[in-house]
Amino acid sequence: MVTPPASRPHLPLRPLWICCTCAAPWPCATARLNLRHEYANDLVALRIYLCAQLHEAAADLHKLHPRNSPDPKALFDRFLAWTPRASRDCVDFRV
Ligand SMILES: [Zn+2]
Repeated sequence: MVTPPASRPHLPLRPLWICCTCAAPWPCATARLNLRHEYANDLVALRIYLCAQLHEAAADLHKLHPRNSPDPKALFDRFLAWTPRASRDCVDFRV
């Protein structure tokens, strides 16, 4: 039985680092939403996880395209720049 695409997880297909469901560069929009939901209470853990993924993606993509490796800033933007900052709404400045 084939799982409908909508319910399939949007995980990275390595070493290409595209989404195994929608074929967009990973993390795709759906993966980002899922990660934000999964790590909603631990944004530091989300960033640590994505740093590890970025490190592995950079190594994989460099092996695949040694003469045309991805731009480090582009990888940073793709893997980390979209992550939410600590919510100011959660900080209570009242004493
Ligand atoms: Zn996807």
